[in-house]
Amino acid sequence: MSITPLMPVYPRCDVRPVRGEGCHLIGERGERYLDFASGIAVNILGHGHPQLVKTIQDQAATLMHTSNLYGMPLGEKLAQRLVDTTFADTVFFTNSGAEALECAIKTARRYHYASGNPQKYKLITFSNAFHGRTLGTISATDQPKMRDGFEPLLPGFQVVKFNDLEAALAAVDGQTAGFLLEPVQGEGGILPATTDFLKGLRQVCDEKDLLLIFDEVQCGVMRTGTFFAYEQYGVLPDIMAIAKGIGGGFPLGACLATENAAKGMVFGTHGSTYGGNPLAMAVGNTVLDVILEPSFKEHVQKMGERLRASLEQLIPNHDELFESVRGMGLMLGIRMKTDSRAFVAHLRDKHGLLTVAGGDNVVRILPPLIIDESHIAECIEKLSAGAKDFEVPAS
Ligand code: PLP
Repeated sequence: MSITPLMPVYPRCDVRPVRGEGCHLIGERGERYLDFASGIAVNILGHGHPQLVKTIQDQAATLMHTSNLYGMPLGEKLAQRLVDTTFADTVFFTNSGAEALECAIKTARRYHYASGNPQKYKLITFSNAFHGRTLGTISATDQPKMRDGFEPLLPGFQVVKFNDLEAALAAVDGQTAGFLLEPVQGEGGILPATTDFLKGLRQVCDEKDLLLIFDEVQCGVMRTGTFFAYEQYGVLPDIMAIAKGIGGGFPLGACLATENAAKGMVFGTHGSTYGGNPLAMAVGNTVLDVILEPSFKEHVQKMGERLRASLEQLIPNHDELFESVRGMGLMLGIRMKTDSRAFVAHLRDKHGLLTVAGGDNVVRILPPLIIDESHIAECIEKLSAGAKDFEVPAS
């Protein structure tokens, strides 16, 4: 038998972390990494954050799981806090981003069903998007590497070019339910939507009774320097999927919606055994306790500006490798002139710096949001050393 006990769907690298300390990971042989990947935008409070650890320990000892058949005081509290701080009126808790997206897609379909328009079931989605790996969420993308061999996929999605308002408007027809997009594309290569694009989508949604669904699984929860990225655009969604940062490393996601958009989601239309259990809800509340302190947002904005400025300074010294820096807050990307995957591997293996490759030859820089100046300096030092001894692979 040659198959590995862990199903071999990931090309795993040699980094084998066994412990985390703040912004660093420690491997099996004691090697230390600066973690500017954060488990792909998850560990916003770093590793071993004392408040989060204490919450998990205390809640695990008090009550870990009950059932959504019962009242959920901690869940009511977290939902109320999300309602108070966002566009939303109601929240469904999930265990992952893809499940939050599934709930968002179902909520949109049920809205039109409840409005007497069940024929309006198609979502217009966008090139290079990533929404997860369930059958529904791979159906929403145009990427063969995720879709091939899994057909028949879920009908009801039409993919058009990202940031192309004209293409999006031209795709609207009598079956359109709305639009689904990441305000800042993550896996696609840290690509922010333009303000005109989001404003144009909002306008057509209002005119034609369509729903605007944001996927803030990667760009949400303070990553871009505001609680949610949409705040910086002045465009409100009707439905939004979140995950990653809201659990700080514990599996937690949520689908947020306005009262109007959620009008079809009545008793029995959706559910989850684990979604919103007491342990997850305690975690979510603690993450909010930390990140909703006004000084936290200021810190993310300040660190985002510092890191970006330092990266921009690095570019001219290595203009054979680097093209530009893009992104918002602490969701940054360096667009490379060569293969970003090989450079990410080089930084990791030779310089102990963890970043993540993204689409469009981008190196994604997604540090814990608690970084300070010393982590930025360490990152720049490693990046600079990595750029000096990187041998561009022969193409
Ligand atoms: N949506 C976006 C924008 C993501 O970046 C991801 C994961 O990377 C997902 C959805 C899927 O989340 P999960 O892997 O938790 O299902």
